Amino acid sequence: MKCERNCPKNAIHADNGIPLFCMHCNPDKAPCLNICPEGAIEELGGAIVVNEEDCIGCGMCRDVCPIGAIEIVRGTANKCDLCINEESQQCIDSCPTEALVDDHSKLVSNKQSKFIKELLKLKASNED
Ligand code: SF4
Ligand code: SF4
Repeated sequence: MKCERNCPKNAIHADNGIPLFCMHCNPDKAPCLNICPEGAIEELGGAIVVNEEDCIGCGMCRDVCPIGAIEIVRGTANKCDLCINEESQQCIDSCPTEALVDDHSKLVSNKQSKFIKELLKLKASNED
């Protein structure tokens, strides 16, 4: 999967042929941001980002993300940051079918959106 290979943060992972990456939840509700004991996750211009200097690698954010968009890499939380410090978004640029679009600074994959809806429905029904 080209987006997976080209992400400079290695923050995209294929699941059944669908690219999965952070969906940049509303900061008021984002489980990762709200659980971090160090306040190391914040919203910047629509992106939910990790401040690596404050992260202690406890893994709480990874454990609460409903779609598994965070990994702990060398003691620090790693996730998509919408390439806020890059000139372009390699995932969008490399996708041959333009399945990823820059929509109001949020990265959206149609396939991913549908997949996540199903995933969250399944998760909710398991919790009933
Ligand atoms: S890492 Fe997960 S919980 Fe945090 S904003 Fe992204 S999708 Fe939401
Ligand atoms: S791993 Fe880092 S960003 Fe995640 S909850 Fe722990 S301190 Fe916060």
